[in-house]
Amino acid sequence: MKAVRLEATGKLYMREVEKPVPGPGDLLVRIEACGICGTDRHLFLGEFPSHPPVTLGHEFAGIIEAVGPEVTSFRSGMRVTGDPNIACGRCEECHNGRVNLCRNLQAIGIHRDGGFAEYVCMPQSQAFALPLELDPLHGAFCEPLACCLHAVDLANIRTGASVIVLGGGVIGLLTVQLARLAGATRILLVTRNADKRALAEKLGATATVDPSQADTISGITGDGGLLPGGADVVFECAGVPETMIQAPRLARRGGTAVILGIMPQGAKIEIEPFDLLFREVNLVSSFLNPFTHQRAADLIATGAIKVEPLISRRITLEQTPNAIANPAPGGEIRTLAIPAGQ
Ligand code: NAP
Ligand code: ZN
Repeated sequence: MKAVRLEATGKLYMREVEKPVPGPGDLLVRIEACGICGTDRHLFLGEFPSHPPVTLGHEFAGIIEAVGPEVTSFRSGMRVTGDPNIACGRCEECHNGRVNLCRNLQAIGIHRDGGFAEYVCMPQSQAFALPLELDPLHGAFCEPLACCLHAVDLANIRTGASVIVLGGGVIGLLTVQLARLAGATRILLVTRNADKRALAEKLGATATVDPSQADTISGITGDGGLLPGGADVVFECAGVPETMIQAPRLARRGGTAVILGIMPQGAKIEIEPFDLLFREVNLVSSFLNPFTHQRAADLIATGAIKVEPLISRRITLEQTPNAIANPAPGGEIRTLAIPAGQ
């Protein structure tokens, strides 16, 4: 079968490899779509610990082709999405229910072969059913949505709350939609690209701001701004120093800033502890998708979350190494690799 293999830092190729055989408790899944995420590029560049040789791809869904012995709740022909993050279940963090912080976390598409391939072999514990009527490409959004769901859970949005989302990539645009479902009535998306701002307004943002036009903080939180005094909840979904600094400052007194964006290890930003303390801002980090994948699958299966407008490009496995190495500038939101062809 075809698979996109990271063979070493900077060396990513499509190769012919053996089709995997499902072992006890495993599912063999024919991939319908697998999303390209910033992490794939970090793995390619060596900016994130990688484990070559390995097939990349951790945002995938497909149809079960075969099941190994001892598989009980799945059978061939079912459509499933994979939660790539496999917790050990034995460490202290796992025992405390903090599976995303597992000390022995193993991820499909990072530590073991993933979804940029015709087939993936995965433990049944990581699979969640999707309806066969669903668009075959939409299941690839369950993993990023599950990460956004964790952030929204941590934010405790109350009905009628005000929300600011910084960054209009896939994570920001999914978070806008979840904030709406969670009951926020004023949802502001801040992103530079005009197409992303227009899309955000279609997906539930009540207003959008171009951060390159004016001072974002005073323009939003100042007298006469869009949210004078700041928002109940701010989600940082850009992963750049500017928005990391802005997030707590855009929160109202007693408000919450949730950080989803990932900055390079060792990178630093300046914060003002006085401002955090005297305004008692809750600064919260949100990492991965602990126990949220099932709800993400349901939100996509029911159409409660719109993902079709987030698909920018459909590519083949042959085109995938180049798309990871040379991401398109600007307006793209999600590129999907489709092994069966576009
Ligand atoms: P993305 O596609 O790169 O989107 C981020 C967007 O932020 C960019 O498209 C850019 O759009 C916008 N941006 C850049 N500079 C900005 C600024 N100064 N002000 C406002 N917006 C700015 O990435 P993504 O896939 O949506 O992911 C977002 C972040 O979450 C990344 O750092 C990613 O690594 C991280 N992530 C975290 C988790 C988790 O579990 N915590 C899970 C998945 C991803 P414009 O060009 O329109 O400004
Ligand atoms: Zn563990």
